[in-house]
Amino acid sequence: MANTKAYAATAPDSGLAPYAIDRRELRADDVAIEIDYCGVCHSDLHTVENDWGGSKYPVIPGHEIVGRVTAVGPEVSHFKAGDLVGVGCMVDSCRSCSACDSGLEQYCIEGSTMTYGSLDRHDGSVTHGGYSERIVVSERFVVRVPEKLDPASAAPILCAGITTYSPLKHFKVGKGHKVGVLGMGGLGHMGVKFAKALGAEVTIFTRSEAKVAEAKKQGADHVIISTDKEQMKAAADSFDFLLDTIPVAHDLNPYLKCLKYDGTHILVGLLTPIEPALQAGLLVTKRRVVAGSLIGGMPETQEVLDFCAEHDITCDIEMLDIRNINEAYVRMKKGDVKYRFVIDMKTLKEG
Ligand code: NDP
Ligand code: ZN
Repeated sequence: MANTKAYAATAPDSGLAPYAIDRRELRADDVAIEIDYCGVCHSDLHTVENDWGGSKYPVIPGHEIVGRVTAVGPEVSHFKAGDLVGVGCMVDSCRSCSACDSGLEQYCIEGSTMTYGSLDRHDGSVTHGGYSERIVVSERFVVRVPEKLDPASAAPILCAGITTYSPLKHFKVGKGHKVGVLGMGGLGHMGVKFAKALGAEVTIFTRSEAKVAEAKKQGADHVIISTDKEQMKAAADSFDFLLDTIPVAHDLNPYLKCLKYDGTHILVGLLTPIEPALQAGLLVTKRRVVAGSLIGGMPETQEVLDFCAEHDITCDIEMLDIRNINEAYVRMKKGDVKYRFVIDMKTLKEG
């Protein structure tokens, strides 16, 4: 598995460039995957640029991976060569704590091993993600991609999809609920599709007038321009849930005012401190809740893929030649993507 072609960042300001890595020989429970497609998540950009601190260079990002199995270790029972499979944000966990036992590996008490930039629990090497030709992953962290789904548009389900599906399911969002989705990017546009499929009335909150028609096309019932104070005021006390995918610190208070009493603001986009400060009064006086949610566990990641196949849900993607990855990051920063770049890994093999 030596000399696997990949793209890596070597410093926060280096951009991404070709880089060769070694993939490990198969362990007994490992699945080897030839990668066909890999989605480009805003988290890739955060890690490349070290926005969250602690990035380990070289960084080879990518956690929306779809490909075909090429080989399996002797203890693998669920997959065989030729199967269409996916790998998301995690590749390992302790597998024995209460979270792992409940299929919530993302909340592993010892900390899960992320697809890139984590230390492998067995040999201490740094994990490398899907901007590469192939990957080797333990079977527990591999999911089956229904053949009915287009494999390229299915790739973002592995992160953008599960991250928005999981909290909607956890909070039992359904018929009769009014849901607002904040930010119409990779996660946001999937959030709209899932909330609609679950029966909710859905509003997109966007900064961008230009996205209004698009939001309706995605199935949103209403659109609110979040920078328009009058529109925000008119939405006061009307939402059961807000699913917040905005990737940078932003004022939560105007959004909290849009929640009914007992309403819940679910953060998925922000991992850094909330600034400006929350007005506690907005929570206390209406028993409002601010919650967070991280991707989803392995059983639920399989569930969301099957849900998408059943409900004909896929991501809206723009296919990307990996040689244009740095330009794609610039566009992602501007919010100028409809709505997910997916790398066609053929372009890495040719390049
Ligand atoms: P995108 O860049 O695709 O979309 C983010 C959207 O947020 C934009 O399209 C834009 O929508 C809005 N936005 C961007 N900048 C601002 C700003 N300054 N103020 C207000 N709104 C803004 O990102 P993704 O959807 O890929 O990811 C979103 C966030 O979720 C990232 O921070 C990512 O790291 C995180 N994430 C979290 C996960 C989890 O498990 N919790 C998993 C995966 C990702 P509009 O133009 O409509 O306003
Ligand atoms: Zn992601």
